[in-house]
Amino acid sequence: MNIPIPYGRQNITEEDIEAVVSTLKSDYLTQGPRIAEFEEAFASYVGSEYAVAVSSGTAALHLCTMALNVKPGDKVITTPITFAASANCVRYCGGEVVFADIDPETYLMDINKVKQLLESSPKGTYKGIIPVDFAGRAVNLEEFRQLAEKFDLWIIEDACHAPGGYFIDSKEQKQLCGNGKFADLAIFSFHPVKHIASGEGGMITTNDKELYEKLLQLRTHGIVKDESKYKNSPEFANGTTVRSSGVETYPGWYMEMQELGYNYRLTDFQAALGNSQLKRANVGLETRRALAEKYQEAFKNKEFVKGQSGVIEGHAYHLYVIEVEDRLGLYNYLRGNKVFAQIHYIPCHLMPYYRDLGWKENDMPEAEKYYRHCISLPMYPTLQVEEQDFVIAKIKEFFDE
Ligand SMILES: *Cc1c(COP(=O)(O)O)cnc(C)c1O
Repeated sequence: MNIPIPYGRQNITEEDIEAVVSTLKSDYLTQGPRIAEFEEAFASYVGSEYAVAVSSGTAALHLCTMALNVKPGDKVITTPITFAASANCVRYCGGEVVFADIDPETYLMDINKVKQLLESSPKGTYKGIIPVDFAGRAVNLEEFRQLAEKFDLWIIEDACHAPGGYFIDSKEQKQLCGNGKFADLAIFSFHPVKHIASGEGGMITTNDKELYEKLLQLRTHGIVKDESKYKNSPEFANGTTVRSSGVETYPGWYMEMQELGYNYRLTDFQAALGNSQLKRANVGLETRRALAEKYQEAFKNKEFVKGQSGVIEGHAYHLYVIEVEDRLGLYNYLRGNKVFAQIHYIPCHLMPYYRDLGWKENDMPEAEKYYRHCISLPMYPTLQVEEQDFVIAKIKEFFDE
């Protein structure tokens, strides 16, 4: 048994190391061939047409709000039970975040709460919604798409917890998270605690060619390298294209910055690591689902467990959450036994930054209630059987079971 037991942990194999080392020995540390390979493999994994690799999940979110043209004052709806970055991306563009409470059964943003917001304001008040596949449970984006059509909204799916996750649509079809059929854009993170690790890293997926091209441009400073634009070069200011030799020639170095972008690129050695990890993502997913089944089985009839993630088809189990009355007591008891469970999340609207913007206690009663009781148990593919048994035993011990 490996003690301590964290709530999440990366897994680096010899193959991963080999992939990184061979990239370090190649001609490209960044902007080389590993990026396109990773993007293609990832798009095919989630079933989208396009993928854009970026330097983090947060950078992915920021590029999305920029590409969708979020402007100061634009209102965007998201869930309070998420990592702050899901909301912050709206603020980066000066937009206003409006939280919609969660459904206490699924822990996901409650579509009825979103509907209430939309129906109680003139059409056009809200510009977009950012549903989050929290803990790895896929949001039913078909339903959100219908709302989006009716109210003229865009959708960014924050799928950081759910590569390989899916929901079942109204035609009984599996719809993979980030497949681009319902959301305009979807984003993923490759932080070490997520399913696929590249150190820092992120991905945006989409089926929209125009948005795809915009994202590529914004990822690299808003710069375009297109030979056909060379006549914009200052040398050609007076319209001359024929040079002294008598043949038309042009400056091969010409590029132009067309809008304000960033450097949000991923490096090639990170892409090599991510791509190597992606190759066994499905194996990891199966292990996560097996761990979830065991947790569900262990706690299903226990009175001290008020709620749990459970066994849900298509759930990708970034987290396995249980809800208990004495959450602080359990957290500390587990820590005392070197089991580092975690809390996901302190509701975003109650972060001091968002409180300063006017959000306060009781604004999101379901999210706040969930937060008081939730605890995320160890969940990662290399968690050993005896380690999970130990975690379960310690939880039962705490509740005198
Ligand atoms: C991890 C995470 C992010 C941010 O990803 P980074 O790669 O850490 O920037 C955004 N949203 C959610 C839901 C996450 O879990």
